[in-house]
Amino acid sequence: MTDVKHMKWWGWGNEGVGFHWEDKPGFAPFVLQAVGLDLHTAAPVEKPAFEKMTIPKPVAPAALVSKLATTVGQGHVTSDDMERVVHVYGKSLRDLVRIRANQVQRYPDLVVYPADEAEVQQVVDAAVAADAVIIPFGGGSNIAGSLEPRADEKRTIISLDMGRLNKVLSIDEQSQTAVIQAGALGPDLEEQLNARGWTIGHFPDSFTHSTLGGWVATRSSGMQSDKYGDIADIARGLRVVRPGGTLVVRPHPSASNGPSVREMILGSEGRLGVITEVTAQVHRIPAKRVVNGYFFPNWEAGIAAMQEIAESDAAPTITRISDAAETGFSLATSKERHGFDKFAAGTVLPNLMKAKGWKLDDICLSFIGFEGATAGHADRQKKLVDAIVKKHGGMGVGTGPGVLYDQKKFDTPYLRDFLLDRGAAGDVSETAMPWSKVNQVHDAVTAAAQKAYSELGTTGWIMSHMSHSYHSGACLYFTFAFVFGNDPLGEYDHVKSAIQQAFVDNGSSISHHHGVGLEHAPWLEQDISTEGVKILTGLFTATDPGANLNPRKILADATKATSGPGTTKKPVAAKASGGAKKAAAKKDAAAPKKAAPRSKAPATAG
Ligand SMILES: Cc1cc2nc3c(=O)[nH]c(=O)nc-3n(C[C@H](O)[C@H](O)[C@H](O)COP(=O)(O)OP(=O)(O)OC[C@H]3O[C@@H](n4cnc5c(N)ncnc54)[C@H](O)[C@@H]3O)c2cc1C
Repeated sequence: MTDVKHMKWWGWGNEGVGFHWEDKPGFAPFVLQAVGLDLHTAAPVEKPAFEKMTIPKPVAPAALVSKLATTVGQGHVTSDDMERVVHVYGKSLRDLVRIRANQVQRYPDLVVYPADEAEVQQVVDAAVAADAVIIPFGGGSNIAGSLEPRADEKRTIISLDMGRLNKVLSIDEQSQTAVIQAGALGPDLEEQLNARGWTIGHFPDSFTHSTLGGWVATRSSGMQSDKYGDIADIARGLRVVRPGGTLVVRPHPSASNGPSVREMILGSEGRLGVITEVTAQVHRIPAKRVVNGYFFPNWEAGIAAMQEIAESDAAPTITRISDAAETGFSLATSKERHGFDKFAAGTVLPNLMKAKGWKLDDICLSFIGFEGATAGHADRQKKLVDAIVKKHGGMGVGTGPGVLYDQKKFDTPYLRDFLLDRGAAGDVSETAMPWSKVNQVHDAVTAAAQKAYSELGTTGWIMSHMSHSYHSGACLYFTFAFVFGNDPLGEYDHVKSAIQQAFVDNGSSISHHHGVGLEHAPWLEQDISTEGVKILTGLFTATDPGANLNPRKILADATKATSGPGTTKKPVAAKASGGAKKAAAKKDAAAPKKAAPRSKAPATAG
């Protein structure tokens, strides 16, 4: 049997690992104030029981199973229940709520683990010949509904798990590129590169459980993108298995060869084929890496500083600033401090800020990262940044908070399960906009979420940070939370829809790095225009006439629809607005509820 590792079926990450609040004295009071959830009395729900899942028999014609088994080996094709559950969804809040509640509408029928590109080609060809559906599976970490099989699908659905294609095949030291198999998880590929002195420099928060192919297929962005670029910059060459043949994008540093086929594959979410190999830009491991903490008196001052840094000669790896709400959250998740550390953080620093005339409720925490082939290079970058921070009224607080941020960054994802266990939603939405709109989008989205909470009759939380700077703009990343009432998915949809609509209404993208999937598809036309949708429709229908490749993701097209609800939905009209319209265009989403009465006890999500 395969030794490919997966996350736990009902939540994020590894079994036995979770978020703990008992060692963080500020956390319980913070949660009580933010969403009205008392952690001292909210007993966590029981872990969902796998035995209680109802999993229908697979649709798996014997001839196809036999052909696949001959191709990949008997042990690498399976219809085992746990395998089918693990491969059905990604890790969006909607996915987690439904899987915990045994509300899955359609499972994949078979999970197949090819060993190399030749096997991928044979699997794809056999699947298309049998008119089966192929859904490529990387780490299963997406949060846009990019893996979800369509509920009405009558054909055999194959989850094509890329986990055995996990090797760094070669490194071209002169060009600083590496050929890497697409199924490699972040830690696996980084370990192989590091062993030879290289790094890919791509570190999304989901790094530990996502793959190179998944990053490319969703246009991912890592926390050090300011220096290394997004995956769209890093992935130069590609090999993509398509029905009948393999598409090869050669690793040019840049090219004028017509509309970019490379760009078409980036973000294609499995609809154009299976990415098997990526030629990625790599970098020598830096001699010095440091993340410094800074405080600003308020959001506007911090954003102005971030923009000036982006336009300056300084080239930090990370520029990130939290708004006042997220700063409060970060301070609340700090572990208990002792001795001088406690005195410095709890007394000296606040007094210093007050002496400067800052209001403590407005302060914003920022992290800025520096790297260099020599320590001197990193130090010079920091000097340039320090001067800009000072000009905008900010102050440096050394590397202490940065070390903490670095340590916590891969643990934060466990917080979502912690909240779900206690009947509360905690989720994210992210977007990109020009510098001139950053503050407008920040304020409009915050107001839209608060309005949505008030319509639901609940107290909710929204906070944000800016990360991923570009010459012309940046990404804003929002985190929102509230306690579920009687209709978890309907309420979630109401809030999430309000946020997404505020993005497009304020000139911002539907996503900066999470992709489209099913989750963001209703807003696509408003983002890329009717003509943009026509081009994508033409691309998908012409290159996959049988709708065998992860159908209905990105565009909710009607190709090969059978009968289920919403399968023939047209994309939302460009002028449409309002959360309800968006939700109505979603196939499986419950319609937003108006101010549903809140139950006293948090509803269990599972
Ligand atoms: C807690 C958390 C934190 C996250 N943080 C970040 C972040 O910081 N930055 C970021 O960019 N994203 C982040 N994400 C989102 C997610 O990790 C990314 O979308 C990631 O790129 C998905 O990779 P994956 O390997 O898990 O792909 P999967 O979830 O397995 O698949 C995603 C899509 O890509 C397709 N696909 C996968 N592999 C291939 C392939 N080889 N060929 C063709 N298609 C393929 C799938 O069919 C599917 O449509 C986060 C998610 C979570 C839950």
